[in-house]
Amino acid sequence: MTTTRAGTAATRATTADFVAFAVTVRRIEKMGAHFVRVTLGGDDLEHFHAAGLDQRVKLIFPLATTGLTTFPRGGSDWYAGWRDLPEHERCPMRTYTVRAARTAAGEIDVDFAVHGDTGPATRWVNRASVGDELLVVGPDARTLVVGAGPIGGVEFRAGDADRVLLAGDETAAPAICSIIEQLPADTRGQVFIEVATDDDILPVTAPGRMTVTWLARDTRDASHGEALNRAVRAWVSEMVAPAAADEPVETTGNAPLGDADADAEPLWDVPPATGEHHGLYAWIAGEASCIRELRRFLVRDTGLHRNDVAFMGYWRAGRPES
Ligand SMILES: Cc1cc2nc3c(=O)[nH]c(=O)nc-3n(C[C@H](O)[C@H](O)[C@H](O)COP(=O)(O)OP(=O)(O)OC[C@H]3O[C@@H](n4cnc5c(N)ncnc54)[C@H](O)[C@@H]3O)c2cc1C
Repeated sequence: MTTTRAGTAATRATTADFVAFAVTVRRIEKMGAHFVRVTLGGDDLEHFHAAGLDQRVKLIFPLATTGLTTFPRGGSDWYAGWRDLPEHERCPMRTYTVRAARTAAGEIDVDFAVHGDTGPATRWVNRASVGDELLVVGPDARTLVVGAGPIGGVEFRAGDADRVLLAGDETAAPAICSIIEQLPADTRGQVFIEVATDDDILPVTAPGRMTVTWLARDTRDASHGEALNRAVRAWVSEMVAPAAADEPVETTGNAPLGDADADAEPLWDVPPATGEHHGLYAWIAGEASCIRELRRFLVRDTGLHRNDVAFMGYWRAGRPES
């Protein structure tokens, strides 16, 4: 089964309603040359259901004219309400990872990878000050139905895998750091995180048998995704025997793998929550074309079972998120 982003959204109502939490900026901390940690706080956030790992939320940014007033906050069908608004009333919405949650204190941290001044999220963070208002759309603990299924927004499911591979660019760094801090102490595996510069290497604690390798583009004079691609290929080639030459080419229900599909939605293909894996479990996220290439390599060329790999195009070069 392939879970698409839309599919995940469709199952949300069975686990917890997703609602807009009103927050303000409590702290801003520069973490690296291109990373800014924003601590968002609000009384409401004590009801945010923090699921950990790579949990994603939607951040809603204010419009210059009307702020956040037009965002449809009543009821759980906020998405349909938002989508149906005329463009000039639709607050920009972007997807981010909960880097840390302290719900008792009504706080979450979000790490922004800043990239110039080209999109509403990066523009917002470049100008953010303590006290600025934002909305965070996430699961409401008050409507959580325990046992009804996984909480939408968490994709990392290594289950009983022998070994774990986590790889991603700077946009996936918050998710990867959060995941490895929460893994059991005996987890074995490899982490690759590609960032712009050596000054973007962030402090993180991993299980003792996991190796964390940061790949800075500037010291390698590499373009986006190049170092990640090379590192993952080299590591996997050592770990896994290549697929038989007549292995059929896999396609996903979400996005075919051919170049003709370069304009389609970001590649997003995650296995079902069975917890059954065949040795290596891979979680890979970042710029869509790099992720698409790595998927080809892992599933088609190397022959990893598609249920052992989660691939997520977090953003597309040259395209806004929505
Ligand atoms: C599940 C999920 C979790 C994510 N978690 C995080 C997170 O924790 N931290 C984080 O920083 N990002 C995260 N992202 C990625 C983030 O949502 C995108 O980078 C988003 O496009 C940023 O919005 P924007 O308004 O700045 O730019 P947009 O308006 O979306 O895009 C404007 C332009 O900027 C380009 N662009 C977007 N992102 C980047 C980038 N990182 N580097 C270079 N160019 C870029 C686009 O291609 C486009 O040309 C996540 C994405 C997903 C799907």
